[in-house]
Amino acid sequence: MDKERIIHRICALHETCPGNIVTEKEAISPELIGLNIFGEPLVGFASATDELFEAFKNSDIVGPWFLSPTEWLPEAKTVISLFFPYTEAVKSANRKATTHPAAEWLHGRIEGQAYLLKLIESLKKWFDDNDIKTCVPITDQRFEVVVAGNNFKQYSCVTADTFSSNWSERHVAYIAGLGTFGLSKGLITEKGMAGRFISIIVSKELAADPRPYTGIYDHCNRCGACVKRCPAQAISLAEGKDHNLCGAWLSKMGNLFKPRYGCGLCQTGVPCESAIPRKRRT
Ligand code: SF4
Ligand code: SF4
Repeated sequence: MDKERIIHRICALHETCPGNIVTEKEAISPELIGLNIFGEPLVGFASATDELFEAFKNSDIVGPWFLSPTEWLPEAKTVISLFFPYTEAVKSANRKATTHPAAEWLHGRIEGQAYLLKLIESLKKWFDDNDIKTCVPITDQRFEVVVAGNNFKQYSCVTADTFSSNWSERHVAYIAGLGTFGLSKGLITEKGMAGRFISIIVSKELAADPRPYTGIYDHCNRCGACVKRCPAQAISLAEGKDHNLCGAWLSKMGNLFKPRYGCGLCQTGVPCESAIPRKRRT
C-alpha cells in the first residue's frame, strides 16, 4: 500500500460516505436541503517520530498533556492529516454574515464534523482490513480537553486560560506540510482556511511530505481583514487572538443556535479564506 492508493481511497470514501449532504431531517430551513458541505480534501503525511510532536509537549508550545503519535499507538509510523475545505455554498453564505454565522456554516460545523467522523471510521476500517494498526485520537477514549494556562508563547494557537486538548488537528496538519497558522489562529492551506481537519495515526511507514515553509505564520500576510471581520473584537494585529473573547462569543452563538454553534467570520470574506494570500508590498 502506498500514499497514492491511500489518497485514492480517501477520495473514493468522500464520494460515497453518507453525510456530506444536508438531509431534509437535518436542514435548518427547506432551501438548505441538499447542501453540499465539503469539497475535495487535501492530504498530508507526517512521520510519527517527527521531532515537532515531542516539541509540542513543551509548555512554551502546547503543553505536557499533548500526546505524541507513539503514545496514542505504540506501533505508529505515520500520521495522515486531512483538510476538508467547505464548498463555495457554505463559504459564500458566511461571507455575507456580519455578526452571526450563516445557517450553512452551522451545518458545516455540526453536520460537517459528524460526516468527518463517519468518513474517518470508514478509513480506519479499511486500514484494519489491510492489517494496518490505527488510532484516531479524537474518537479515542483517551482524548481529552484540558483547561490550559497562560503558557503558549511560540505557537500561541491556544492562549491564556482557555481550552486545549491532548491532540491538535491544526498542529498535526502543520507538521504534515498542509499549511501555517494565521493571525486568527486557523491554519492557512493551499485551499485556504475555511474548512475542517481530521487525522489518523497508522502503523504503516510512508514517506513524510515536505513542509514548504519555515515559520509557523509564513502564509499569513497580516492584512488585518480577520480583525475587521470578528464580531467579538477577539483579534488584533498587536495581540493576536484572544481565545477567551472568541470562546465567549461561541458560547453565545451556542445559546442562540442550539443544538448548533459556530462563527467562522474570521475565516470567510478574508484573503486566506480559500487560498494562500498574496504577500503584501512593504
Ligand atoms: S485575514 Fe489576513 S491577517 Fe487574518 S489570518 Fe488571514 S491573511 Fe492573516
Ligand atoms: S470565530 Fe468568530 S469570534 Fe472567534 S475569532 Fe473568529 S470571528 Fe472572532
